Amino acid sequence: MKIGFPRALFYFDYFPFWAGFFQRLGIEVVTSPATQREIMEHGLKKASDETCLPLKLLAGHIQMLRDVDAIFLPRMVSVEADTYSCPKFLGIPESILPAVPDGVPVLTVVLNWRKGRRQVLKDLQILGQQLGKSKADIRKAFIEGQKWQKRYQDSMGAGWDFEASIREIVMNEPAQEGRKACVFMKDTDRLRIALVGHSYLTQETYASLNLLGRLREKAEVELVQHVMQEEVDTHLRGLRKKLFWNHAKQIFGAGNKFVADKEVDGIIYLSCFGCGTDSMVQELLARKAREQHKPYMVVTLDEHSGEAGLVTRLEAFLDMVERRKIHEGYVSTYGERLDCDSNTL
Ligand code: SF4
Repeated sequence: MKIGFPRALFYFDYFPFWAGFFQRLGIEVVTSPATQREIMEHGLKKASDETCLPLKLLAGHIQMLRDVDAIFLPRMVSVEADTYSCPKFLGIPESILPAVPDGVPVLTVVLNWRKGRRQVLKDLQILGQQLGKSKADIRKAFIEGQKWQKRYQDSMGAGWDFEASIREIVMNEPAQEGRKACVFMKDTDRLRIALVGHSYLTQETYASLNLLGRLREKAEVELVQHVMQEEVDTHLRGLRKKLFWNHAKQIFGAGNKFVADKEVDGIIYLSCFGCGTDSMVQELLARKAREQHKPYMVVTLDEHSGEAGLVTRLEAFLDMVERRKIHEGYVSTYGERLDCDSNTL
Protein backbone atom coordinates (compact mmCIF):
# COMPACT_ATOMS: atom_id res chain seq x y z
CA MET A 1 0.00 0.00 0.00
CA LYS A 2 1.17 3.52 -0.83
CA ILE A 3 -0.03 6.45 1.31
CA GLY A 4 0.27 10.08 0.23
CA PHE A 5 1.42 12.59 2.87
CA PRO A 6 1.19 16.29 1.91
CA ARG A 7 4.39 18.26 2.58
CA ALA A 8 2.60 21.06 4.41
CA LEU A 9 1.24 22.07 7.82
CA PHE A 10 1.59 19.03 10.19
CA TYR A 11 4.39 17.63 7.99
CA PHE A 12 6.85 20.11 9.52
CA ASP A 13 6.29 18.99 13.11
CA TYR A 14 4.93 15.47 13.07
CA PHE A 15 6.12 13.74 9.89
CA PRO A 16 8.77 11.64 11.75
CA PHE A 17 6.06 10.10 13.95
CA TRP A 18 3.88 9.12 10.99
CA ALA A 19 6.86 7.99 8.91
CA GLY A 20 8.00 5.67 11.73
CA PHE A 21 4.45 4.47 12.35
CA PHE A 22 3.73 3.52 8.74
CA GLN A 23 7.20 2.12 8.13
CA ARG A 24 6.68 -0.33 11.03
CA LEU A 25 3.39 -1.39 9.42
CA GLY A 26 5.12 -2.02 6.09
CA ILE A 27 3.26 0.81 4.35
CA GLU A 28 5.07 3.07 1.91
CA VAL A 29 4.72 6.82 2.52
CA VAL A 30 5.01 9.19 -0.44
CA THR A 31 5.30 12.94 0.18
CA SER A 32 4.37 15.71 -2.26
CA PRO A 33 7.31 17.73 -3.68
CA ALA A 34 8.57 20.92 -2.02
CA THR A 35 6.26 23.90 -2.61
CA GLN A 36 6.54 25.62 -5.97
CA ARG A 37 4.40 28.03 -7.98
CA GLU A 38 2.14 25.31 -9.44
CA ILE A 39 1.32 23.94 -5.97
CA MET A 40 0.49 27.41 -4.65
CA GLU A 41 -1.80 28.09 -7.63
CA HIS A 42 -3.64 24.77 -7.23
CA GLY A 43 -4.11 25.52 -3.53
CA LEU A 44 -5.55 28.99 -4.18
CA LYS A 45 -8.14 27.50 -6.53
CA LYS A 46 -9.24 24.74 -4.17
CA ALA A 47 -9.12 26.30 -0.68
CA SER A 48 -11.57 28.80 0.74
CA ASP A 49 -10.55 32.47 0.23
CA GLU A 50 -10.90 33.26 3.92
CA THR A 51 -8.59 30.57 5.21
CA CYS A 52 -4.92 31.05 6.16
CA LEU A 53 -1.98 30.65 3.79
CA PRO A 54 -0.73 27.29 5.25
CA LEU A 55 -4.15 25.70 4.62
CA LYS A 56 -4.12 26.98 1.05
CA LEU A 57 -0.70 25.39 0.61
CA LEU A 58 -2.01 22.15 2.11
CA ALA A 59 -4.78 22.12 -0.53
CA GLY A 60 -2.16 22.54 -3.25
CA HIS A 61 0.00 19.71 -1.91
CA ILE A 62 -2.98 17.36 -1.71
CA GLN A 63 -3.56 18.00 -5.42
CA MET A 64 -0.08 16.65 -6.19
CA LEU A 65 -0.81 13.28 -4.60
CA ARG A 66 -2.61 11.50 -7.43
CA ASP A 67 -0.66 8.27 -7.80
CA VAL A 68 -1.35 6.86 -4.31
CA ASP A 69 -3.82 4.40 -2.75
CA ALA A 70 -5.00 6.94 -0.16
CA ILE A 71 -4.16 10.40 1.16
CA PHE A 72 -3.49 10.61 4.86
CA LEU A 73 -5.04 13.62 6.63
CA PRO A 74 -5.04 13.17 10.43
CA ARG A 75 -7.27 15.29 12.64
CA MET A 76 -4.81 16.44 15.28
CA VAL A 77 -7.10 17.70 18.03
CA SER A 78 -4.42 17.98 20.67
CA VAL A 79 -0.76 16.97 20.84
CA GLU A 80 -0.28 17.39 24.60
CA ALA A 81 -2.38 17.66 27.75
CA ASP A 82 -4.01 21.07 28.38
CA THR A 83 -3.77 22.40 24.84
CA TYR A 84 -5.71 22.23 21.59
CA SER A 85 -4.61 22.62 18.01
CA CYS A 86 -5.89 25.73 16.24
CA PRO A 87 -9.54 25.49 15.02
CA LYS A 88 -8.41 25.34 11.39
CA PHE A 89 -6.33 22.23 12.20
CA LEU A 90 -9.41 20.71 13.82
CA GLY A 91 -11.46 21.25 10.67
CA ILE A 92 -9.16 18.95 8.69
CA PRO A 93 -9.97 16.73 6.78
CA GLU A 94 -13.53 17.99 6.07
CA SER A 95 -12.52 21.59 5.32
CA ILE A 96 -9.97 20.43 2.76
CA LEU A 97 -11.95 17.67 0.99
CA PRO A 98 -12.61 19.74 -2.19
CA ALA A 99 -8.85 19.61 -2.82
CA VAL A 100 -8.65 15.80 -2.82
CA PRO A 101 -8.22 14.43 -6.39
CA ASP A 102 -11.24 12.49 -7.69
CA GLY A 103 -11.20 8.81 -6.87
CA VAL A 104 -8.47 8.99 -4.21
CA PRO A 105 -9.77 7.95 -0.77
CA VAL A 106 -8.88 9.87 2.39
CA LEU A 107 -7.51 8.06 5.41
CA THR A 108 -7.93 9.85 8.71
CA VAL A 109 -7.58 9.35 12.45
CA VAL A 110 -8.38 11.49 15.48
CA LEU A 111 -5.39 12.25 17.67
CA ASN A 112 -6.34 13.72 21.02
CA TRP A 113 -3.65 13.64 23.73
CA ARG A 114 -5.96 15.44 26.15
CA LYS A 115 -7.73 12.12 26.54
CA GLY A 116 -4.49 10.31 27.31
CA ARG A 117 -2.24 7.70 25.74
CA ARG A 118 -4.75 4.86 26.01
CA GLN A 119 -7.36 6.73 23.96
CA VAL A 120 -4.77 7.71 21.34
CA LEU A 121 -3.82 4.06 20.98
CA LYS A 122 -7.49 3.04 20.69
CA ASP A 123 -8.06 5.59 17.93
CA LEU A 124 -4.97 4.38 16.09
CA GLN A 125 -6.29 0.83 16.38
CA ILE A 126 -9.49 1.94 14.60
CA LEU A 127 -7.26 3.22 11.80
CA GLY A 128 -5.39 -0.11 11.96
CA GLN A 129 -8.63 -2.02 11.31
CA GLN A 130 -9.10 -0.10 8.03
CA LEU A 131 -5.53 -1.01 7.08
CA GLY A 132 -5.99 -4.67 8.02
CA LYS A 133 -3.49 -4.53 10.90
CA SER A 134 -3.81 -6.17 14.30
CA LYS A 135 -3.89 -4.32 17.64
CA ALA A 136 -0.42 -5.66 18.43
CA ASP A 137 0.94 -4.33 15.12
CA ILE A 138 -0.50 -0.88 15.87
CA ARG A 139 1.00 -0.86 19.36
CA LYS A 140 4.47 -1.64 17.96
CA ALA A 141 4.04 0.95 15.20
CA PHE A 142 2.97 3.55 17.76
CA ILE A 143 6.10 2.95 19.85
CA GLU A 144 8.27 3.14 16.73
CA GLY A 145 6.60 6.41 15.68
CA GLN A 146 7.23 7.93 19.09
CA LYS A 147 10.90 6.91 18.92
CA TRP A 148 11.34 8.62 15.55
CA GLN A 149 9.55 11.72 16.78
CA LYS A 150 11.72 11.92 19.89
CA ARG A 151 14.95 11.61 17.90
CA TYR A 152 13.73 14.35 15.60
CA GLN A 153 12.76 16.69 18.44
CA ASP A 154 16.01 16.04 20.30
CA SER A 155 18.03 16.89 17.23
CA MET A 156 16.14 20.18 16.74
CA GLY A 157 16.87 21.11 20.33
CA ALA A 158 20.55 20.59 19.67
CA GLY A 159 20.43 23.29 17.02
CA TRP A 160 20.17 21.39 13.73
CA ASP A 161 18.01 22.78 11.06
CA PHE A 162 14.84 21.16 9.78
CA GLU A 163 16.19 19.70 6.53
CA ALA A 164 19.25 18.15 8.20
CA SER A 165 17.18 16.62 11.00
CA ILE A 166 14.47 15.17 8.81
CA ARG A 167 17.00 13.64 6.39
CA GLU A 168 18.92 12.00 9.19
CA ILE A 169 15.90 10.60 11.04
CA VAL A 170 13.46 9.71 8.29
CA MET A 171 15.67 8.91 5.33
CA ASN A 172 18.47 7.51 7.47
CA GLU A 173 21.04 9.75 5.80
CA PRO A 174 23.81 11.17 7.98
CA ALA A 175 23.73 14.98 8.18
CA GLN A 176 26.41 16.67 6.09
CA GLU A 177 29.41 17.58 8.22
CA GLY A 178 29.73 21.08 6.80
CA ARG A 179 26.09 21.82 7.44
CA LYS A 180 26.23 20.55 11.01
CA ALA A 181 29.29 22.65 11.70
CA CYS A 182 27.74 25.80 10.33
CA VAL A 183 24.79 25.44 12.67
CA PHE A 184 26.82 24.63 15.75
CA MET A 185 29.63 27.17 15.36
CA LYS A 186 28.40 30.48 16.71
CA ASP A 187 30.11 33.49 15.17
CA THR A 188 30.05 36.06 17.94
CA ASP A 189 30.73 38.99 15.59
CA ARG A 190 27.61 38.41 13.55
CA LEU A 191 24.17 39.63 14.52
CA ARG A 192 21.90 37.12 16.26
CA ILE A 193 18.33 37.29 15.08
CA ALA A 194 15.43 35.13 16.28
CA LEU A 195 12.92 34.14 13.60
CA VAL A 196 9.69 33.41 15.43
CA GLY A 197 6.59 31.80 13.92
CA HIS A 198 4.90 28.56 12.91
CA SER A 199 7.32 25.86 11.71
CA TYR A 200 5.24 25.47 8.54
CA LEU A 201 5.99 29.09 7.67
CA THR A 202 9.56 29.58 8.84
CA GLN A 203 10.70 26.30 7.21
CA GLU A 204 8.53 26.75 4.11
CA THR A 205 11.08 28.16 1.67
CA TYR A 206 8.80 29.07 -1.27
CA ALA A 207 5.92 30.70 0.59
CA SER A 208 8.21 32.62 2.97
CA LEU A 209 10.26 33.87 -0.01
CA ASN A 210 13.25 32.10 1.55
CA LEU A 211 13.28 34.46 4.52
CA LEU A 212 15.22 31.95 6.63
CA GLY A 213 17.89 31.47 3.94
CA ARG A 214 18.23 35.23 3.37
CA LEU A 215 18.54 35.82 7.09
CA ARG A 216 21.18 33.11 7.50
CA GLU A 217 23.36 34.86 4.92
CA LYS A 218 23.51 37.93 7.16
CA ALA A 219 23.10 36.72 10.73
CA GLU A 220 23.07 33.80 13.15
CA VAL A 221 19.46 32.63 13.28
CA GLU A 222 17.54 31.21 16.25
CA LEU A 223 14.24 29.41 15.69
CA VAL A 224 11.37 28.39 17.96
CA GLN A 225 12.26 24.75 17.26
CA HIS A 226 15.74 25.25 18.72
CA VAL A 227 14.40 26.10 22.17
CA MET A 228 14.13 23.18 24.58
CA GLN A 229 10.69 22.46 26.07
CA GLU A 230 11.81 23.26 29.64
CA GLU A 231 12.87 26.75 28.56
CA VAL A 232 9.57 27.30 26.74
CA ASP A 233 7.67 26.30 29.90
CA THR A 234 9.82 28.57 32.09
CA HIS A 235 9.08 31.57 29.89
CA LEU A 236 5.36 30.93 29.91
CA ARG A 237 5.15 31.57 33.64
CA GLY A 238 3.65 34.90 34.56
CA LEU A 239 0.85 34.79 32.00
CA ARG A 240 -2.47 35.56 33.67
CA LYS A 241 -4.22 32.99 31.56
CA LYS A 242 -2.82 29.88 29.91
CA LEU A 243 -2.50 29.81 26.13
CA PHE A 244 -4.47 26.80 25.02
CA TRP A 245 -3.35 26.49 21.39
CA ASN A 246 -0.23 24.38 21.36
CA HIS A 247 1.58 26.26 18.55
CA ALA A 248 0.78 29.62 20.13
CA LYS A 249 2.18 28.34 23.42
CA GLN A 250 5.46 27.23 21.85
CA ILE A 251 5.85 30.45 19.88
CA PHE A 252 5.13 32.74 22.82
CA GLY A 253 7.32 30.76 25.26
CA ALA A 254 10.27 30.68 22.85
CA GLY A 255 9.71 34.29 21.77
CA ASN A 256 9.69 35.40 25.40
CA LYS A 257 12.98 33.58 25.94
CA PHE A 258 14.49 35.44 22.96
CA VAL A 259 13.25 38.77 24.36
CA ALA A 260 15.01 38.04 27.66
CA ASP A 261 18.20 36.70 26.01
CA LYS A 262 20.75 39.53 25.91
CA GLU A 263 22.64 37.78 23.11
CA VAL A 264 19.68 37.97 20.73
CA ASP A 265 19.93 41.30 18.90
CA GLY A 266 16.48 41.37 17.35
CA ILE A 267 13.30 39.39 16.69
CA ILE A 268 11.37 38.87 13.46
CA TYR A 269 7.86 37.48 13.83
CA LEU A 270 6.81 35.65 10.67
CA SER A 271 3.03 35.56 10.51
CA CYS A 272 0.48 34.98 7.77
CA PHE A 273 -2.72 36.64 6.70
CA GLY A 274 -5.77 34.93 8.16
CA CYS A 275 -4.07 33.39 11.22
CA GLY A 276 -6.27 33.88 14.28
CA THR A 277 -3.77 32.73 16.92
CA ASP A 278 -0.96 34.91 15.54
CA SER A 279 -3.09 38.03 15.78
CA MET A 280 -3.01 37.62 19.56
CA VAL A 281 0.41 36.09 20.20
CA GLN A 282 2.16 38.56 17.92
CA GLU A 283 0.75 41.48 19.93
CA LEU A 284 1.64 39.87 23.28
CA LEU A 285 5.21 39.37 22.13
CA ALA A 286 5.44 42.88 20.66
CA ARG A 287 4.57 44.30 24.11
CA LYS A 288 7.25 42.20 25.78
CA ALA A 289 9.81 43.30 23.19
CA ARG A 290 8.85 46.94 23.63
CA GLU A 291 9.21 46.71 27.40
CA GLN A 292 12.75 45.35 26.98
CA HIS A 293 13.63 47.70 24.07
CA LYS A 294 14.31 44.70 21.86
CA PRO A 295 14.16 45.43 18.11
CA TYR A 296 11.10 43.65 16.74
CA MET A 297 9.58 43.37 13.28
CA VAL A 298 6.47 41.57 12.00
CA VAL A 299 6.41 40.11 8.49
CA THR A 300 2.93 39.06 7.37
CA LEU A 301 2.81 36.74 4.40
CA ASP A 302 0.01 36.06 1.97
CA GLU A 303 -0.12 34.62 -1.52
CA HIS A 304 0.65 38.07 -3.00
CA SER A 305 3.77 38.79 -0.94
CA GLY A 306 6.51 40.25 -3.12
CA GLU A 307 10.24 39.58 -2.91
CA ALA A 308 11.35 43.21 -3.35
CA GLY A 309 9.28 44.45 -0.42
CA LEU A 310 10.55 41.70 1.86
CA VAL A 311 14.23 42.25 0.98
CA THR A 312 13.93 46.02 1.57
CA ARG A 313 12.29 45.57 4.96
CA LEU A 314 14.78 42.89 6.00
CA GLU A 315 17.80 45.02 5.05
CA ALA A 316 16.39 48.06 6.81
CA PHE A 317 15.72 46.05 9.97
CA LEU A 318 19.19 44.47 10.02
CA ASP A 319 20.84 47.87 9.42
CA MET A 320 18.88 49.32 12.32
CA VAL A 321 19.81 46.42 14.63
CA GLU A 322 23.48 46.65 13.65
CA ARG A 323 23.59 50.41 14.26
CA ARG A 324 21.94 49.91 17.61
CA LYS A 325 24.44 47.23 18.57
CA ILE A 326 27.34 49.59 17.81
CA HIS A 327 25.75 52.40 19.84
CA GLU A 328 24.60 50.09 22.64
CA GLY A 329 23.82 51.94 25.85
CA TYR A 330 22.66 55.09 24.12
CA VAL A 331 18.89 55.53 24.35
CA SER A 332 17.44 58.76 23.09
CA THR A 333 15.42 60.49 25.80
CA TYR A 334 12.99 61.57 23.13
CA GLY A 335 12.52 57.99 22.02
CA GLU A 336 12.15 56.76 25.60
CA ARG A 337 9.48 59.34 26.32
CA LEU A 338 7.62 58.46 23.15
CA ASP A 339 7.68 54.77 24.09
CA CYS A 340 6.27 55.40 27.59
CA ASP A 341 3.30 57.26 26.16
CA SER A 342 2.53 54.66 23.55
CA ASN A 343 -1.09 53.52 23.69
CA THR A 344 -0.15 49.94 23.21
CA LEU A 345 2.01 49.69 26.32
S1 SF4 B 1 -2.44 28.45 13.63
FE1 SF4 B 1 -2.81 30.09 12.14
S2 SF4 B 1 -1.56 29.54 10.37
FE2 SF4 B 1 -1.78 27.71 11.62
S3 SF4 B 1 -3.52 26.62 10.77
FE3 SF4 B 1 -4.26 27.89 12.45
S4 SF4 B 1 -4.92 29.80 11.48
FE4 SF4 B 1 -3.63 28.72 10.02
